[in-house]
Amino acid sequence: MNTGHWIDGRRFEVSTERRIEVFNPATGVCGTTVSLASPDTVARAVQSAYRAWPQWADTPPLRRARILFRFKELVEAHLGDLAAIITREQGKVLADARGEVMRGIEIVEFATGIPHLLKGDFSDQVAAGIDQYCLRQPLGVVAGITPFNFPAMVPMWMFPLALACGNTFVLKPSERDPSASLLLAELLQQAGLPDGAFQVVQGDKSAVDALLKATEVEALSFVGSTKVAESIYTQGCARGKRVQALGGAKNHLVVMPDADLEMVEDALIGAAYGAAGERCMAISVVVAVGNAADALVARLQKRLARLRIGDGADPASEMGPLVTSAHRERVLEYVNAGVAEGARLLVDGRGLQVTGHEQGFFLGPCLFDHVQPTMRIYREEIFGPVLSIVRVPDLDQALALVNGHEYGNGVALYTADGASAREFTRRARIGMVGINVPLPVPSAYYSFGGWKRSLFGDTHIYGMEGVRFYTRYKAVMQRWSEGTGAGAPFAMPTSR
Ligand code: NAD
Repeated sequence: MNTGHWIDGRRFEVSTERRIEVFNPATGVCGTTVSLASPDTVARAVQSAYRAWPQWADTPPLRRARILFRFKELVEAHLGDLAAIITREQGKVLADARGEVMRGIEIVEFATGIPHLLKGDFSDQVAAGIDQYCLRQPLGVVAGITPFNFPAMVPMWMFPLALACGNTFVLKPSERDPSASLLLAELLQQAGLPDGAFQVVQGDKSAVDALLKATEVEALSFVGSTKVAESIYTQGCARGKRVQALGGAKNHLVVMPDADLEMVEDALIGAAYGAAGERCMAISVVVAVGNAADALVARLQKRLARLRIGDGADPASEMGPLVTSAHRERVLEYVNAGVAEGARLLVDGRGLQVTGHEQGFFLGPCLFDHVQPTMRIYREEIFGPVLSIVRVPDLDQALALVNGHEYGNGVALYTADGASAREFTRRARIGMVGINVPLPVPSAYYSFGGWKRSLFGDTHIYGMEGVRFYTRYKAVMQRWSEGTGAGAPFAMPTSR
């Protein structure tokens, strides 16, 4: 079986195109191949989106919203199917896969408010007989390039709002878990979206390069690793496109000595090891302030010994495998590097075998203590079930660490003290802050994004920032009254 593209309202495959294997990470078995779009296929998708755009842009926002209402109902009806596809190709446990789709649905719900969200301002009589108003108009064809770790949710951060605003959309999903995108395309069609308004091109760097070169593509939303984000931002901007490019992360959770440690333990186990650490908001560093470390370490060691690791499709599993064998090797290299650099590996998941799934890409949880900020395991994004503990004497030094790191996606502080929390919130150079909340992922009606090298561009994603990203602002002045009879004006017009 092969997973192809979705162009002009139907599945599309070219037999001569390159294909690569897509694996079930829990079994290590190849379930499908995926086409890697040639530049011709990308051009076909972009042209189809370009042709569909004028009619879609002229469709009243309320009618676009109604299609999204139907789409939301269809996604809800297919929640189980989508979750099963995600678990089969990405590896995360089913409950987590369902959660990802639910978070995507929340963006669709927000997008259904588009008639209200697009309302402009109006000023009566800004000068004699002249009124002024502003409106936001769609850009045209926009594209989204998405990572493997959220094959439904991250595309849904983008296309519901882009479509609601009146753009047509070309999605380039991750080649590691491509199938969810095709089900989403079918559901959009069933909901009444006109053919051509939503396209899927499967592929790798060469498909992305073709999207960057396509002059019809007005804007690019990217989510993935920092190196690629920066490159796409630079190239896209140089070609005059609007670009928002969300990159990697190294999220710290700061534990103050007055924190409720039971709450911290629960939060950390989920936030560090949920989805095997393959979340851009995963906590990968604990900054233990003062005497918080010893008691916390003892709790984490005990809890990790009980962590249930297995096939994500098994409802008993709490943590699934990593996405590919190559990614597992990369994470293993980091664990080896941490040991070599002198960090103390208190929980070592390297030898884990899951009975009946010996070929799966599993790695047990790893916990490092006494990690130094100079070590690679502290500086670089690992994107696996590896948690590092750094010990510092006070909140100032915790903040210095957080602010000194190149990434600035999310951060959390656990404390019982409101003044420390307020100070921390104000001084943290980070895009999303949680106070006694480990994964501060903003609701659909706020916006998501990091600072520093976690985001390239001016706008965060979804929410009102998303509406601004996917529209252009227009200011209009109008006069329907008689002229003033004052002749041709040579001075700058004023309201007097
Ligand atoms: P990735 O950067 O390897 O791939 C992301 C997308 O870019 C994929 O569609 C891929 O096909 C494409 N791509 C890969 N290499 C490319 C290249 N050289 N040129 C052009 N396109 C290329 O990322 P990934 O491994 O799929 O996802 C994990 C990364 O995504 C992590 O770094 C994680 O932090 C990040 N991420 C960030 C957020 C966020 O909101 N900031 C959310 C999810 C994931």
